Amino acid sequence: MTTVGVVCGGVGAARFLRALTGVHPVERTVGVVNTGDDTVMHGLAISPDIDTIVYTLAEAIDPARGWGLSDETWRAMEALSRYTSVRPAGSAAAPTWFNLGDQDLATHFYRTARRAEGATLTEVTAEIAAAWGVQQRLLPMTDHRVTTMVSLRDEGIEVPFQEYFVQRRHSVPVGAVRFDGADRASLTDHARMALTDSDVVVIAPSNPLVSIAPVRSLPGVDAVLSARRDTVVAISPIIGGAALKGPADRMLLELGHEASVVGVARLYAAIAGTLVIDPIDASLATAVEATGMRVVVTPSIMSTPAIGHELARRTLAAARR
Ligand code: GDP
Ligand code: CA
Repeated sequence: MTTVGVVCGGVGAARFLRALTGVHPVERTVGVVNTGDDTVMHGLAISPDIDTIVYTLAEAIDPARGWGLSDETWRAMEALSRYTSVRPAGSAAAPTWFNLGDQDLATHFYRTARRAEGATLTEVTAEIAAAWGVQQRLLPMTDHRVTTMVSLRDEGIEVPFQEYFVQRRHSVPVGAVRFDGADRASLTDHARMALTDSDVVVIAPSNPLVSIAPVRSLPGVDAVLSARRDTVVAISPIIGGAALKGPADRMLLELGHEASVVGVARLYAAIAGTLVIDPIDASLATAVEATGMRVVVTPSIMSTPAIGHELARRTLAAARR
């Protein structure tokens, strides 16, 4: 039976992994997850993409917000505001711009405590996934610190990803993206095996520049994927020239790419043999093929389980050809 490795960001990857559940055994699925968004808030270790995937696969994600837990309460965040008035100038204590729900905090408490005991992020992630009954293997891309840094055009400064994405609501133009620490980091052995030994590798419909690119910034990843590119299939996160959610479309333009399936294909042609695109983009299939990728056209907005399952099925079939 085939094993499937999925290169993952957050929401788009979580939805694909959930769809895959319907057509492929969970115990033969492994996700290699971006950790470039990871941050420390209130001294707590936070891994947003890992948590989005765990909560989604546990059917505990808040469907409206798309992040965090459903039936969440925010008492701790509300209580924090007491301290913002006494915080001295220059202090970053009691940040209230990064919302953490009361139940969600438990995940960060656990991760932080286990890290302080010396557990790796790989170990803690397996424990958190098990606690939520998630059966897919979820692997952080690295156990080293890699931080996605975003240059803000208007302010002329570089900030960690969350200060762009959450604090500025990803509404300001980006001049560059950099993965701090990547040159000194490495894929974990488990993550490397997932990319080399899986029968099929899927690049999830995640932001190519800030979700998939951090994984690719680790030494050797592009080499591993390009060596097996015929069995690597990417799903476009751009549909009809737009991202379903988030800044992927604007970011592509701001960083000099085309905000279309063709722009996505140019980014992935060296590492993936096939691009899955939505019927709305069918007229661009020839242009995608001109980049050297094969094209699969199938509905790719995972709005119902049936669409998700068919997308997952077509994606796996494309790699087995
Ligand atoms: P984040 O880390 O949570 O910001 O999310 P990702 O990087 O994993 O995903 C963001 C991208 O996922 C956006 O560009 C969306 O267009 C894409 N996306 C979300 N849901 C879907 C879907 O159902 N189908 C496709 N094709 N893309 C999706
Ligand atoms: Ca993310």
